[in-house]
Amino acid sequence: MDEIPQRVLVVTPHPDDAEGWCGGTIAAWIKQDVEVHYVLCTDGGKGTRDRQITSQQLAATREQEQRDAARVLGVKEVVELHHPDGELEDNQDFRREIVRQIRSVRPDVVMCPEPYRRNLAWHRDHRITGQITLDAVFPAARDHLHFVELWRDEGLEPHKTATVLLWGTEQADTRIDITDVLDIKIKAVMAHRSQMTGRSDQEIADFVKERAKEAGAGEGYIYAEAFRKVTFRV
Ligand SMILES: [Zn+2]
Repeated sequence: MDEIPQRVLVVTPHPDDAEGWCGGTIAAWIKQDVEVHYVLCTDGGKGTRDRQITSQQLAATREQEQRDAARVLGVKEVVELHHPDGELEDNQDFRREIVRQIRSVRPDVVMCPEPYRRNLAWHRDHRITGQITLDAVFPAARDHLHFVELWRDEGLEPHKTATVLLWGTEQADTRIDITDVLDIKIKAVMAHRSQMTGRSDQEIADFVKERAKEAGAGEGYIYAEAFRKVTFRV
């Protein structure tokens, strides 16, 4: 994908998903003056094998790690919805929250997880975030009578988003070159310390590098990230 957007909204189910799947793209775009906003849907409060820690303690750590990672990349703002990890539902309340962010950020590109993985396991929060985000982009954010209260009471005008990039897809059709910013991506991924117990910095860097190399294979990029692109008429 060669077009450079102006404003991007990243909808991430858990702290660490966005950096792992699209941190390089975010870093590359920010270097080109793109404005990037995050919505963090859950608090990540279940992602541990440590039996001594509570969900509340873990959530505080992980939300801080998300803020730190976003700072490494240069993300303008992280809006935290604080849903409990594993408890996202495909309902009007969650959809309204995403529509609110779309209408206030007014992005030309939205990034979120692929909801339709068939053969690879996928966390339910990823599936639901992807579905909710697609439905929020079209038609809910576009048509003012969806969530009319956002328009009437909060002054949030309807908005048309041109492109959604889905990460974690089995059907990638779009690659973005991250060769020049791989080091920034690695640093952002490493901000999620709570998710990396037992792995050395070198192992983490090698893992990120290997995945980026696979994503770039066949496209002439040394390192890339891969997405499925969905376009909408604007
Ligand atoms: Zn996740």
